[in-house]
Amino acid sequence: MGGNLAASAPTDLPVALAALRASVLVASIRGTRSVPVEELDLAADELITQVVVPDALGSRWAYGKLALNASAYSVAAVAVVVQPDGPTCAFAAVGPRPDRLDAAAPPGEACAGLNAVTDALADGAYRRRAAAVLLEDALLKVAGR
Ligand SMILES: Cc1cc2nc3c(=O)[nH]c(=O)nc-3n(C[C@H](O)[C@H](O)[C@H](O)COP(=O)(O)OP(=O)(O)OC[C@H]3O[C@@H](n4cnc5c(N)ncnc54)[C@H](O)[C@@H]3O)c2cc1C
Repeated sequence: MGGNLAASAPTDLPVALAALRASVLVASIRGTRSVPVEELDLAADELITQVVVPDALGSRWAYGKLALNASAYSVAAVAVVVQPDGPTCAFAAVGPRPDRLDAAAPPGEACAGLNAVTDALADGAYRRRAAAVLLEDALLKVAGR
């Protein structure tokens, strides 16, 4: 888990943990700090020592990703967790870190503001569009349709 969370590649675990509102405990010679997964930015001498996941028993969830090549890394990925106080959505591969949204909004609107990266695999507009389609699909899944 530590390697996957610390990786600079668009891995899947951070987006699932961000949707679960998880945080990590980070330790160094200066002490420890707790950081929400989506804000994790490790200094060279810091180690992830704990992953803290709030109780999500009974919540409904869905995960979707779009990968365009054999590496399986995402062009966009979305995790949705629906808890009693509403849905939390997290996005991978759209920005440099997972983005988390705590409020429900129509998928196109929710994804329009994502600070999507452009690279050799896809441009930012494509990633935002892919995230909106994945989000719509995930919301239908958690609604049981
Ligand atoms: C071709 C390919 C495709 C992949 N596709 C996917 C994918 O689609 N989705 C996905 O989720 N993963 C994917 N992976 C795996 C993902 O890239 C790895 O999990 C990630 O690169 C980290 O590797 P690792 O888990 O072996 O960790 P390591 O190689 O052991 O560590 C990676 C880095 O994190 C640091 N590190 C390790 N533990 C800690 C810690 N506790 N605290 C701080 N730093 C730490 C290490 O020092 C190192 O710098 C893919 C891997 C490959 C090779």
